[in-house]
Amino acid sequence: MYTVKAYSAKSPASPLAPYTLQRRDPLPHDIQMEVLYCGVCHSDLHQVRNEWADWNPTEYDCVPGHEIVGKVTKVGDKVSKFKVGDYAAVGCMVDSCKSCVNCKDGFEQYCAEGATFTYNSPDKVSGGHTYGGYSNGLTVTESFALRVAPSLAEKNLAAVAPLLCAGITTYSPLRHWKVGPGQKVGIIGLGGLGHMGVKFAAAFGAHVVMITTSPGKGADAERLGAKEVLVSKDPEQMKKHAGTFDFLLDTVAAEHDLSAYLSLLKRDGTMTMVGIPDKPLPIHTVTLAFPRRQLAGSVIGGIPETQEMLDFCAEKGIFSDIELIPIDKINEAYERLLKSDVKYRFVIDMKTV
Ligand code: NAP
Ligand code: ZN
Repeated sequence: MYTVKAYSAKSPASPLAPYTLQRRDPLPHDIQMEVLYCGVCHSDLHQVRNEWADWNPTEYDCVPGHEIVGKVTKVGDKVSKFKVGDYAAVGCMVDSCKSCVNCKDGFEQYCAEGATFTYNSPDKVSGGHTYGGYSNGLTVTESFALRVAPSLAEKNLAAVAPLLCAGITTYSPLRHWKVGPGQKVGIIGLGGLGHMGVKFAAAFGAHVVMITTSPGKGADAERLGAKEVLVSKDPEQMKKHAGTFDFLLDTVAAEHDLSAYLSLLKRDGTMTMVGIPDKPLPIHTVTLAFPRRQLAGSVIGGIPETQEMLDFCAEKGIFSDIELIPIDKINEAYERLLKSDVKYRFVIDMKTV
């Protein structure tokens, strides 16, 4: 075992504070990584504050973080994908059963036994529960670690970190629902997920509309790749766009009126939920029935697709837009997330832990 420095929460009401924890020494198929940067996902906030208690209660101490990039410092003797000194990344999962139909199809996030998530999951190897990337070191089985192309790592490694959750969570549904040229696509919410959704939907050739509650984010949305901005608080603008969208990606982290957004879809259009607010959201089913609209959901992406997404970003030069913070600003960053005041992903410089 070795000791790493981390930040943890002790209860739903306590701020994140310095913590030390033990990690396992690498087993034959494991790599050990120095964590250099870790993105701050709204899911971290939901889990630290136990806002998902009804379906995923939080175990404390909770060390969040699932947008992890760093360098390999040790490898087990059966490791073939990495050598010491390579860049590596870890997203939301660190293991799964590998034998159920979903794992075999490369959708480990839907593992029938439940994937081992990077934090707040039972740790089937070391016991207890898993601890995430708000820490300066990590051990992970190589099959759940991703390769980071040197062209990405050397240009801006910190801006690669958010690809591991915000990136794949938007890339995967946009690919699954075949978003592309000739389609009008709305990305709802310009935060961590939303800004990656705009970049990917634009890269796939769609006509992208940023749907936001924050009129002040309009210019940024256009810089990120949106062709139009729709301020959802303005009923006139909502009416103008009603019934015109092929696809909507809903990244909102808080309660909102689903029926109002569903009304924007044309016949056979799909709205896919990736945001997971703390409470159930009611819908008026007539907005689905007329005119035959679809409501769907999606969770991150499997390991093969996450590697595909990272390689796509390397090919196209796609990074996240980040605000780099020292770890002692993490509690302030959470408060700013709640005010939709992030441009567009906080990333922790792990040297400051
Ligand atoms: P974030 O950075 O806080 O962005 C959320 C955005 O939603 C805000 O910036 C804001 O954008 C908009 N918003 C906030 N309150 C709103 C309201 N009441 N009505 C309408 N829009 C509102 O959060 P994130 O990290 O992108 O995460 C978003 C959600 O996705 C969270 O619930 C998170 O847990 C979930 N998530 C899911 C997955 C998955 O696999 N399915 C993966 C990661 C995260 P505007 O200012 O533009 O309105
Ligand atoms: Zn996340």
